[in-house]
Amino acid sequence: MKPLSPLVPLKHKLFDKNQLSVYIKRDELIHPLISGNKWRKLKYNLIEFKHQNKKHLLSFGGAFSNHLLALAAACSENKINGSIIVRGDGPDPNNPTLQLAEKLGIKIHFTDRSSYKKRHELSYQQEALEQYQADYLLPEGGTNELALKGCKEILSEVIFQLGKEPDYIAVAAGTGGTAAGILSNLGSTELLVFSALKGNFMEAEILNLCNQHKDKLKVLETYHFGGYAKHKPELVDFINAFYLEHKIILDPIYTGKMMYGLFDQIQQNQYAPGSTIVAIHTGGLQGNLGFNYRFGDLIPNPIIPF
Ligand SMILES: *Cc1c(COP(=O)(O)O)cnc(C)c1O
Repeated sequence: MKPLSPLVPLKHKLFDKNQLSVYIKRDELIHPLISGNKWRKLKYNLIEFKHQNKKHLLSFGGAFSNHLLALAAACSENKINGSIIVRGDGPDPNNPTLQLAEKLGIKIHFTDRSSYKKRHELSYQQEALEQYQADYLLPEGGTNELALKGCKEILSEVIFQLGKEPDYIAVAAGTGGTAAGILSNLGSTELLVFSALKGNFMEAEILNLCNQHKDKLKVLETYHFGGYAKHKPELVDFINAFYLEHKIILDPIYTGKMMYGLFDQIQQNQYAPGSTIVAIHTGGLQGNLGFNYRFGDLIPNPIIPF
């Protein structure tokens, strides 16, 4: 096996005090634009796209979304025609995600909020495919059966690199697809899922995608900082302190909240001494550009070669 990203130990006095071995699986290093779990989710979809001789890929996303940019970059690298339906009134020429995506050549179609709400309906998807002359649909966030298959490999790589199953894996969740992929492959490990969204539906979402190993799944719903893409000063401070100490950039939408939550859980002595914990860095650092654009330069920017 040749792992796609390194697994590195994370050192912190809190971990020493609680006698924990903590690692970070650095999937953010896989690719600067097709980042982390979005790379994993696209992998088998791109293979299937080519295998089925499809011509035009269509998906949905938010105007700052990691999925949008990953898809744009993947289409560009694979010379695939791609379109994406974006929620919003129209192009914002200063939005860094849209700027990059446009340069990469993906076609962006804006739609209002009420149309965007229909994105999960089959009839709407069918219409959209016809309207944009596309023949392969990826749901929002890239989550489908083949995406889960790609995310499953995160756990195989971790076990290979660690030489054993970790006691815990920590991962952030949006659609829950990444968590569901890992869940489908679990042995003795417990899966800690930190929801980036406000509400108590995430466990059901994940089990709807993968109805296995329910006893190994623990969803934490209290680290959303006000809701999806919302933030508070504590989160910004945490991301900056984490960067200073570890030289690893976290994103404010997913991995920052996950890591904050994991530290908080450790502080509350949730994990027995001697435990091994692997946190998955699911990437998404391009989102820091959009975050800093909207809120002022609050957190570290990644270097994006472009
Ligand atoms: C999209 C994304 C997630 C959420 O993944 P899901 O499979 O939708 O739960 C987590 N982290 C990052 C960095 C992401 O870009």
